[in-house]
Amino acid sequence: MDLAYLIIAALLTLLVLAGFYLFWKSRRTLPEEPVPQEWIDILNERVRYFRELSPERKAVFAKRVQGFLERVTINGAKTSVSLTDKLFVAASAQIPLFGFPDWHYPNIDEVILHGDRFSRDFNPDSTNRNILGMVGNRELKRAMVLSKPALHQGFKEHTDGNVGVHEFAHLLDMSDGETDGSPDYYLEDGLAGPWMRLVQAEIRKIIRGQSLLDDYGATNEAEFFAVSTEFFFFRPEAMKEEHPKLFEMLEDIFKQDPTQHDPALAYREDHGS
Ligand SMILES: [Zn+2]
Repeated sequence: MDLAYLIIAALLTLLVLAGFYLFWKSRRTLPEEPVPQEWIDILNERVRYFRELSPERKAVFAKRVQGFLERVTINGAKTSVSLTDKLFVAASAQIPLFGFPDWHYPNIDEVILHGDRFSRDFNPDSTNRNILGMVGNRELKRAMVLSKPALHQGFKEHTDGNVGVHEFAHLLDMSDGETDGSPDYYLEDGLAGPWMRLVQAEIRKIIRGQSLLDDYGATNEAEFFAVSTEFFFFRPEAMKEEHPKLFEMLEDIFKQDPTQHDPALAYREDHGS
């Protein structure tokens, strides 16, 4: 009898805990409060990707930005953090994810902004202060570091690259446990082999001076993935023209066609899914 009571009590406790967990999880993925109008105004004014979305998709993007900022803290290392800074970080995170309805980053809790470029060991006296962004090294557990001026530069009109999107591309690549230029959770069955072969061919083009991509993309496969992701989202027409196979493959990886106004919707309509 006592044992039966114990079992019932244990089951009830489990049920209550499961209820709390589900409630907590739903709160984590979908904030209940409306997105402040000020946020929408800043995104409209400063983030071209957002500006070109349809009104319905803007609402979805803004909600995801809000969800990201609930989960991830943005701090300044001896520098202030404005609302625009936070929105730039969250937009950088959401742009590559927007083709996936429910995906969020499982591997980050904090983004630290620096007032300038920094060195690998964050020593302000170092002569090697040339880093704009960094993520995933051993000292930086579940954190990303970005140079604030570089983050802003990435959201100016007519830019080639975006350090925020670059670092979040690394995070995506890492989400399967390996930083190898192959975002395995993103790649549909059978795409990993062709993708890595294409990466090798495109790296050779950079080395021969036959690529539009920044030379830094030839550093290794992981940097190629991050550099080509930036270019795909910020110079899509040029990539489609000059590197059509690469463009097509990245379209299939991200499920977006950034040559269109609403990239994720355009991809879905084109590919009938
Ligand atoms: Zn990188």
